[in-house]
Amino acid sequence: MPVKRVGVIGLGNMGVGMAANLIRAGHEVTVYNRSRAKVDALVAEGARPADRVAEACTGDVVLTMLADDDAVAGLAFGDEGIIASTAPDTVHISSSTISVGLAKHLTEAHAAAGRGFVSAPVFGRPEAAASAALFVVAAGPAECVDLAMPAFAAIGQRTFVISEDPPAANLKLSGNFLIGSVIESLGEAMALVDRGGVDKHQYLDTSTLFSAPVYRTYGALIAGGQFEPAGFAAPLGHKDIGLVLAAAEELRVPLPIASLLRDRFLRLLAGGGDHLDWSAVGGLAARDAAASDHSA
Ligand code: NAP
Repeated sequence: MPVKRVGVIGLGNMGVGMAANLIRAGHEVTVYNRSRAKVDALVAEGARPADRVAEACTGDVVLTMLADDDAVAGLAFGDEGIIASTAPDTVHISSSTISVGLAKHLTEAHAAAGRGFVSAPVFGRPEAAASAALFVVAAGPAECVDLAMPAFAAIGQRTFVISEDPPAANLKLSGNFLIGSVIESLGEAMALVDRGGVDKHQYLDTSTLFSAPVYRTYGALIAGGQFEPAGFAAPLGHKDIGLVLAAAEELRVPLPIASLLRDRFLRLLAGGGDHLDWSAVGGLAARDAAASDHSA
């Protein structure tokens, strides 16, 4: 793969590993982050620092890995934003998990400005980002996706190119809905067996019905009650379930389990869970069961 000049904007739990792997793959990487300390850490690994968004927008591609719709819109639009700052040949890759509405808005705004845009959200937690093991779901014009491919190869183990229309990559949201459903149901099943006197780790080992990584990863976190530090913070999980429900509302698709999950996230956050991993939703059923000891 040819060396590319890559800008990375957003060095949170995910972006920091993605940028490091782009550097390791031999690309020339320029990094921007709202808070400067994270930039300095990557400069030590060989990145060039950007003091302003615009300085990260002049390479072959600029990859954004920001928290949510507000963060992406805040840096993409406006006189000093990404769209106004990219060179004509620079392709913007948005890897954040964002709303369908914003994906459409970004698609239209890039097209109106004559700029390339690829929506490429990812599956995988920070450990996968750090080890270049993400799954990338990419959608955008073929020539833009082709330009972005070396960057995808550096951050992930596999890239699925699903459409020429960027908002199609929002199928990622339905994946997070499925993971959230697994977290809740695993939490309920483990609260039950724990109450019945079975060791939760042993239960996981003997529960051979489900060997998929999502059960193994989240089962271990829930069984061990390891919800800190947050790899995927609970407010971001709450955000994603909200985005799923917004898409369902628009398309008039009832999603009763997603509605339930929204309330479970609200319960977690109302109880002070902002700093926890989203898998802490899987600890709620055990807390409810313990609470029932005092209510009899
Ligand atoms: P994170 O650790 O919270 O990092 C968020 C990044 O966005 C930081 O660089 C933060 O800057 C920046 N940011 C937030 N608000 C901003 C604003 N208003 N203006 C400018 N910059 C802002 O999040 P993450 O876990 O890396 O996730 C990033 C995206 O990937 C999210 O959309 C998430 O849903 C998605 N995702 C996450 C995972 C996961 O397991 N963590 C997996 C797949 C996809 P500061 O450093 O200055 O705060």
